[in-house]
Amino acid sequence: MRNVIIIGSGPAGYTAAIYAARANLKPVLIASSVEAGGELMNTTEVENFPGFPQGIQGPDLMFKMQEQAERFGTEVILDDVTEVSLDGPVKTVTTGYSGTLEARSVIFATGSAYRKLGLADEERLSGRGISWCATCDGFFFKEKTIAVVGGGDSAMEEATFLTRFASKVYVIHRKDSLRASKIMQERAFQNEKIEFLWNNEVVGINGENAVESVTLRNTVDGSEQVLPLGGLFVAIGNDPRVHLVHQQLELTSDGVIAVDGRSSRTSLAGVFAAGDVIDPHYRQAITAAASGTVAALDMESYLAELEQAEAHLDVPAEQEPEAEAEAVESASARAAASASEAATVGA
Ligand code: NDP
Repeated sequence: MRNVIIIGSGPAGYTAAIYAARANLKPVLIASSVEAGGELMNTTEVENFPGFPQGIQGPDLMFKMQEQAERFGTEVILDDVTEVSLDGPVKTVTTGYSGTLEARSVIFATGSAYRKLGLADEERLSGRGISWCATCDGFFFKEKTIAVVGGGDSAMEEATFLTRFASKVYVIHRKDSLRASKIMQERAFQNEKIEFLWNNEVVGINGENAVESVTLRNTVDGSEQVLPLGGLFVAIGNDPRVHLVHQQLELTSDGVIAVDGRSSRTSLAGVFAAGDVIDPHYRQAITAAASGTVAALDMESYLAELEQAEAHLDVPAEQEPEAEAEAVESASARAAASASEAATVGA
């Protein structure tokens, strides 16, 4: 029986692991077999993570976080979680190759995935002119003509932010009106560097080694045109990775895991969540890392309360599962009730 299993290896997961390991809880972190390190593995230079005045490559930052977590005793498993069972005092996490692990608590730090356009050359030119994060990469597009795809708040925010660097920013949107909030729309409309290309979708991204142009198709008359560009930002939404916990944890109306206020406590006792999987707004490496800290501290308190309750009952948990269940209930009823309330409000 482990103390805690952390699922996810982005900044939230590794930060939770660093704290849990330093608390001597010997955490296990399941890092995914092919996507270990999370979204930052797809980023080039990270210049806004404190402590690296000259910037650091995204993958290097993630390797350092892993090294730091392992230094204090985190066991990192490169495997994919296929199933979880979260109810009751013993949580089980089933993986593709390593079998089923048991723990008293679980921290979800599964992040979110940028929605992609689904075009053939999107992957190939990713990091070579195609980006999903203006705050991360905007700086590299100084004095260039670039475009943002999307019509929501993210697209407006990214387009407006990118005018600090780019000489011109097109917003390519598939409809003739925006989904974005009025205030964000107005800000973009008033910006002289932004031009809207309505009723257009990107059907091709062109360039040998970097983005040189995109092919647009008019959604009204079907006509096509090639638009020369030095960069393309895709801002068509994010999907939190919650497929493992559907039907088990409460979600908010934004589709993220519901937590109790500023804590990481989910609707089930002993289950915590951190990072992008609870955050539909900020989605930065540093906010995810901070959220991982919160999850580790909440988890530590939970285990301490559990231990106290067990000691009070004076019944060894392994021998009397029912007694342990009772102890868990008393240790965490307050957290579960308030998280459930938060979920209801969120929904
Ligand atoms: P949204 O889901 O709100 O918007 C996505 C946009 O992308 C829509 O305009 C949609 O078009 C378009 N889109 C989706 N799929 C495709 C596709 N395959 N091809 C072309 N276009 C596509 O996502 P956001 O990330 O913008 O926002 C998510 C949440 O975060 C929202 O609640 C938002 O309010 C919030 N947010 C708030 C911010 C703030 O307040 N500062 C900043 C950023 C986000 P269509 O309209 O046709 O469906």
